[in-house]
Amino acid sequence: MKKKDRVFQGAASALLLFLGVLCYNHFNVREYSEVFREAAAEPAPKVALTFDDGPDPVYTPKLLDGLKERKVHVTFFLIGKKLEGQEDLVRRIQQEGHLIGNHTYSHVDLSKLSESQAKEEIEKTSNSIYEITGEYPTYVRPPFGEWQEELEFEVTMLPILWNIDPIDWQRSDVEGIVRDVEKKVADGSIILLHDCYDSSVEAALRIVDDLLEQGYQFVTADQMILE
Ligand SMILES: [Zn+2]
Repeated sequence: MKKKDRVFQGAASALLLFLGVLCYNHFNVREYSEVFREAAAEPAPKVALTFDDGPDPVYTPKLLDGLKERKVHVTFFLIGKKLEGQEDLVRRIQQEGHLIGNHTYSHVDLSKLSESQAKEEIEKTSNSIYEITGEYPTYVRPPFGEWQEELEFEVTMLPILWNIDPIDWQRSDVEGIVRDVEKKVADGSIILLHDCYDSSVEAALRIVDDLLEQGYQFVTADQMILE
């Protein structure tokens, strides 16, 4: 090979190497920008499932099994007078990472009671929950959404209402419950359901599957309130 050819070949190799590096960097830049875009993307929309009127000896365990399988945490607002004899179930709710709230002792309309009666309905329930779990609940779900504002100071608890109510306790069509929730769901939704009906539990797990697939993140109600 002539010297001139060798120089040419050397220059060609250098050019190829240069082009190679350029290409490599180009692809790397593309990869980095994708990673950057993903990191800068909006956080997953949040949704909170809340279950009132439990615990139920049949349907609450069924719901807990399904939630555990899906690694999803929810909130249970328990009725005080239903706690006796169901202590293990209440402890299971706590141990599996769900939030426990207060739904009064006998499911009363708090706005129709005197302040002291309302206070008793809440405190009796919080005390029972404390005796079972070692933790006082911080949140209350007033039955029928009826609350007395002064109570917040009296019992130092915060009410948590809801913004989606498929009225699951009045119907048994799973499809309808799922559809009603999913057509209204948005980032920040607090969904009201009841863990004392087979159809509600089935609908809840369907909703979890669908919303996980849509990229939603399930949080407990306190995480929604504190944001
Ligand atoms: Zn209720």
